[in-house]
Amino acid sequence: CGIVGYAGLGPSENRVEQASAARDGASDRPLEVVLEGLRRLEYRGYDSAGVALVGPGSAEVTSAKKAGKLANLLAELAERPLPAATAAVGHTRWATHGGPTDGNAHPHVADDGRLAVIHNGIIENFSELREMLAAEGATFLSQTDTEVAAHLLAREYRAAGDLTAAMAATARRLHGTFTLLAVHADAPDTVVGARHDSPLVVGLGEGENFLGSDVAAFVAQTKEALELGQDQVVTITPTTVEVTDFDGAPAEGKRFTVDWDAAA
Ligand code: GLU
Repeated sequence: CGIVGYAGLGPSENRVEQASAARDGASDRPLEVVLEGLRRLEYRGYDSAGVALVGPGSAEVTSAKKAGKLANLLAELAERPLPAATAAVGHTRWATHGGPTDGNAHPHVADDGRLAVIHNGIIENFSELREMLAAEGATFLSQTDTEVAAHLLAREYRAAGDLTAAMAATARRLHGTFTLLAVHADAPDTVVGARHDSPLVVGLGEGENFLGSDVAAFVAQTKEALELGQDQVVTITPTTVEVTDFDGAPAEGKRFTVDWDAAA
């Protein structure tokens, strides 16, 4: 339903201060940006919300997810705060496969807790993929179609050793409609995404970059944007945005400036 991603060390005016305060550059900004994005995507309606974060030196992703309104997730985060981070993803879910429970909420975690995936859309060939992945030893914790994308990405990452190539390989095997975002503990400054018949937009910042299913996800942060084309993969870090097609060949999105009053 709604997707937000962030990679960065905080707004440019704070970056030097933050980087020296937290030696590794981790801050609360990734979580703040993602929650603000989810709040702005609320108008689309949803039945659960969740976030996943990665930071330097973290062995696993950290995540929180809750059925119901964003307020439920915020209450969970107040009770069980997540550590400072350098990259984050957030999702609001409109359930299609599996009821609106905490467990079916996104993100879905794989690769021994090191990888988290969020997804908009429907994966039509999920049952055959689920069978294959379960036969290979993957443990499924939800009833969603989405969870196959998490385990498939983990599998392709083990084969490719590179998150961008793994996302392209995953996208090639999925049928249906999808916008996918993922973070991995091995790449704490990176968010990788892919899209097929479902939108994904990049927000371009200074020392930080954003992803959204809609410009509303980051319009409070930047007006400079890049619309991804059909069947593209994107990899953002605080200072880089790389786009490829599903075969890994370099590709280009379409630059535009958001014409929107951020106060809205
Ligand atoms: N099909 C997925 C699910 O039911 C994603 C739904 C969405 O787009 O929010 O979990």
